[in-house]
Amino acid sequence: MIKKNTPADDVLCHGKKCDRKNHCCKMGSGFLIKDDLDKIAEFLKISVDSLKDIRLDAVEMFNTTLHKPKLDKKKGKHYGPCTFFDGKGCSIHEVKPLGCKVGNCSEHGEKLHLWFMLNHFLNDEDPESIRQYATYLKSGGKTLDGGELKNIVKDETLLNKILNFEILR
Ligand code: SF4
Repeated sequence: MIKKNTPADDVLCHGKKCDRKNHCCKMGSGFLIKDDLDKIAEFLKISVDSLKDIRLDAVEMFNTTLHKPKLDKKKGKHYGPCTFFDGKGCSIHEVKPLGCKVGNCSEHGEKLHLWFMLNHFLNDEDPESIRQYATYLKSGGKTLDGGELKNIVKDETLLNKILNFEILR
């Protein structure tokens, strides 16, 4: 069972169970974490800034901004092949983003997506991130075991202060 605190290595084992033959790479791309930026830039022999400018899009969630490979979208479509998909496979396979390794199309797809969200977008050290996450939960957003607000901020007094905007940053 995948929980918020399931170790990344265990999560990656679930993500490997994918036999959809690059379906994700033809329709979208996965998020990078900080280490991925450095590794992919080095692999492509370009600077991190150039990588961000030329090959990646920035996406914000819960007051955290991460990057993902651009998509070659056809006019009027919201999806398309990843900029690193070469028609047969991933051209940066050796350094592919964590979001791609975790995957989201296996039988555990939704839970894998939630695990990534809880561990890489939600920032328990950022009150604004916690407030936005609280709003997400209030509006019916899904989470995993361990992703309840009382587990993200264990000090109830502190949590209330954050939610009441008594602590801004
Ligand atoms: S980076 Fe590679 S694995 Fe990830 S979506 Fe693009 S082609 Fe697929």
